[in-house]
Amino acid sequence: MPGFTTLAIPGPTNMPFEVRAAMDVALEDHRSPDLPSFVRPLLADVARVFRTKDGQIVIFPSSGTGGWEAAITNTLSPGDRVLIPVFGQFSHLWADMCRHHGLDVDVIDTPWGEGAPLEVIAERLAADKAHKIKAVMICHNETATGVTSDIAGVRTALNGAKHPALLMVDGVSSIASLEFRMDDWGVDVAVAGSQKGFMLPAGLGIVAFSPKALNAMATAKLARSFFSVSDMLKSTAGGYFPYTPAMTLLRGLRKSVDMLLDEGLDEVANRHTRIASGVRAAITTGWGLKLCAVAPRWHSDTVSAIVVPEGIDANNIIRIAASDYQLSLGSGLSKVAGRVFRIGHLGWMNELMALQAIAGAEMAMRDSGVKIAPGSGVGAAQEVYRAHKRAQRAATFKEAAE
Ligand SMILES: *Cc1c(COP(=O)(O)O)cnc(C)c1O
Repeated sequence: MPGFTTLAIPGPTNMPFEVRAAMDVALEDHRSPDLPSFVRPLLADVARVFRTKDGQIVIFPSSGTGGWEAAITNTLSPGDRVLIPVFGQFSHLWADMCRHHGLDVDVIDTPWGEGAPLEVIAERLAADKAHKIKAVMICHNETATGVTSDIAGVRTALNGAKHPALLMVDGVSSIASLEFRMDDWGVDVAVAGSQKGFMLPAGLGIVAFSPKALNAMATAKLARSFFSVSDMLKSTAGGYFPYTPAMTLLRGLRKSVDMLLDEGLDEVANRHTRIASGVRAAITTGWGLKLCAVAPRWHSDTVSAIVVPEGIDANNIIRIAASDYQLSLGSGLSKVAGRVFRIGHLGWMNELMALQAIAGAEMAMRDSGVKIAPGSGVGAAQEVYRAHKRAQRAATFKEAAE
């Protein structure tokens, strides 16, 4: 079919033309003399996206899941206890990986649709007088349910209990799109992947380690080889990599980081909030449906999971959207399969791109028997977007007058 396929899943996200062009290059020698002049500033600028001055960036040729493995194996030892709230498929998988590595996993089973339970975390930490818990692991943005957790709040809980555990954060679907402050929030390990906020193809696991996490590395006994951070840092200090890096993706990363920093990280986050508020208006005001995220404080600005009415199969909506309207929507994962579909609204996005996804979802829902009025979601989102623009125009006008 001619025309674009509308990609409205929470990763991979839409790739800017500039990023694609930056990767349309001849393959190159990763041991060339001028490589350090490319690698060193790139790592420094990626650190700015994580908002860390003290942390070290390592980039593996892997997906985000490899970043998890690097986080765990470089900082922990077999039998170490880790505390991890599980409230969706991604936090569930991270806990599973910890089990596979022989860690003692203390799961806080949390209803899907809620975020990290700060009071429970604080209680568990306060009760752990012997400091058996070596790491607290939080999925910042649970992509399966569209839930964002309060990482600063988790840091406050750790500090309140004077607990020395490392704070590890899965930021795969938040870093480079939502507000993320590694240093301010005292995050020790932060994990990202290339195909979400960084607007690239999958293939880079991007991880930041705080000085405290790097110290933990000296005594951590889990086996690591491919994901050895010390090998990586030894090489990147000189501007090279211990094995063949995904050079083409790194060229793309250079461009995407430039685009993020040019727009400004605050504006990137604000844009995501604006776009998301229109999507949420479509879902709630327009369609009269519910988000999987049960309270506004947990609403994600990068992905919305929409609960379909009783008797409707969400997968049918996704199928029709793809086959009839060239629209890719995200499916419900695991526990919520068939019960929700997801609209990803992160990365290289604007209001009209969101409206395209809303319009297609609306048609596919009507085709699947969902009783919503045509244009109801689109109309609700349009009004939110128009109101934002009016407010922006008024602010610009006021500034000009001053
Ligand atoms: C996508 C995602 C992952 C997994 O990343 P892969 O690149 O698929 O390995 C992990 N955590 C979250 C929150 C994600 O959204």
